[in-house]
Amino acid sequence: MNQANFYPGPSRVYSNITEFIYEAYKDGIMSINHRSVEFMELMRATKAELRSKLLIPDNYEIVFTSSATECWEIIAQSLTVKGSQHFYNGSFGEKWASYASELTNTTNVHFGINEKLPTGDIADGVDVLCVTHNETSNATMISMDSLKMLRVENEGKLIAVDVTSSFGGVNLDYSLADVWYGSVQKCLGLPSGMGFMVLSPKAIHSAENIGENKHYNSLVRLLENASKDQTSYTPNVLSIYLLYRTQQASKGIDYIENKLKARMASYVDLFGQIADIDFLVDNRKLRSSTVLALSAANLDVIRSEAKERSIVLGSGYGPWKKSTFRIANFPAIKSREVEKLMAFFSRYS
Ligand SMILES: *Cc1c(COP(=O)(O)O)cnc(C)c1O
Repeated sequence: MNQANFYPGPSRVYSNITEFIYEAYKDGIMSINHRSVEFMELMRATKAELRSKLLIPDNYEIVFTSSATECWEIIAQSLTVKGSQHFYNGSFGEKWASYASELTNTTNVHFGINEKLPTGDIADGVDVLCVTHNETSNATMISMDSLKMLRVENEGKLIAVDVTSSFGGVNLDYSLADVWYGSVQKCLGLPSGMGFMVLSPKAIHSAENIGENKHYNSLVRLLENASKDQTSYTPNVLSIYLLYRTQQASKGIDYIENKLKARMASYVDLFGQIADIDFLVDNRKLRSSTVLALSAANLDVIRSEAKERSIVLGSGYGPWKKSTFRIANFPAIKSREVEKLMAFFSRYS
């Protein structure tokens, strides 16, 4: 890659992707039938690889969708009977609430970027609690401790978590929620075009009890096929294959999480020395470990000077579009690219 790409989605893909695409072509993977034994073996192997590298419990099912956006609708249509409650502090959580509100009753709890997840005050008639784990728009992250509080206080409810920009970069405690979903173009380092859902036994039972089956992507349909290692419609087989091969090559989530934390610590040191660049989020404990949002007065100058050196910085997003830029701290980014970025910024200190 000629550019060092730090855009937080779509983002840098793993460098061995080209090799795997060639392999998929050569081995006829791109043309296999999704009812064939070969496909079922690929699905089985992919799910096993995800379970082993990302420490997903064996009794959680994994299904593939087209995007995280599709998962917003699946949760509203197939898992929500009375209503869902949405906790958010940024654009992606807000969009989720907005899509859900077209399909079910929603209650919104907006909180500040320097505040913890407010776990109290659940509205009446709510069966699903919706949380964005890593809010890519402002680089905040909900701690596993906060999720645990939400879990403990709401035994009877389903908890759904958007992990689009943290799945594959953070060691998640899957016991703390029932639906974990996202898409592959962020921490998983793959080309865009596929989403996934990781579902707890409670979510599976709930989908079956509700039995909503009016849509091509009704969850009971997706689950019934997943239990046979198939899919309801012809899936993105190439993406499934790339996910399989990249996870197979991965050193596992503990290794990755530590690598990202170490890089983040270096970024904190670096930006601590630059007077004109500040983290958007003051409270360190609430900051994301996979995305940085930084505010600076001379944003455009920084981004264009970076561009001249073949470094792509992410723009701000939503309400923070004009005041911040973002840097992805995703696993597929190479150490030499991080060094190049740090050398670039050290000029400003
Ligand atoms: C990128 C992103 C999405 C949207 O993903 P799509 O694949 O475009 O549907 C949703 N939520 C979060 C937190 C994201 O970062």
